[in-house]
Amino acid sequence: MATKRKKPGPPDNIERRRETSAGGVVWRRNGGNLEIVMARPARKDAWVLPKGQPNPKETLIETAARETREETGLEVAPGAEVGKISYIFSWREGPDKPLVRIFKSVHYFLMEPRGGSIDAHDHEMDEVRWMNIDEAEHCASYKSDREIIVKARAMLTVE
Ligand code: ATP
Repeated sequence: MATKRKKPGPPDNIERRRETSAGGVVWRRNGGNLEIVMARPARKDAWVLPKGQPNPKETLIETAARETREETGLEVAPGAEVGKISYIFSWREGPDKPLVRIFKSVHYFLMEPRGGSIDAHDHEMDEVRWMNIDEAEHCASYKSDREIIVKARAMLTVE
């Protein structure tokens, strides 16, 4: 009798979707200290880099600057791309809705602060904080965010 081998991964009938977001590594030098902005999303016990999804017709860098501005309260000037991260998660739009598997990419850009205040961040964040970049690397809740912070530090470290 032939045995059915179970395929690894999610069931075949699960809906799969791609999502792209963009965000920022806001940086400043404070004396000899390199600092970046980290945020704690509302009701989540996590520290992350600010990011979000594009509005229609926005370029990635425009999305990154707008989302960074909204989520941190800072006016920002975007710079070089630091890199792209990818992760997968499952999500249900409502209790009766089927599970959807999201394949997500997030592009991060360096951002220089040009004004505003971290006290003016929107309701999506419970807390926004300037941190020494090493502390931020330690604090970041996701490995992929830590990798972006490490890349940003290398880009911003003058030999
Ligand atoms: P966006 O800010 O792009 O609108 P969102 O708030 O809708 O996104 P995400 O922040 O992507 O959603 O979170 C969706 C799921 O992915 C959550 O379970 C979250 O914990 C997880 N997640 C968020 N960032 C990462 C990451 N860098 N690595 C792995 N998982 C992550």
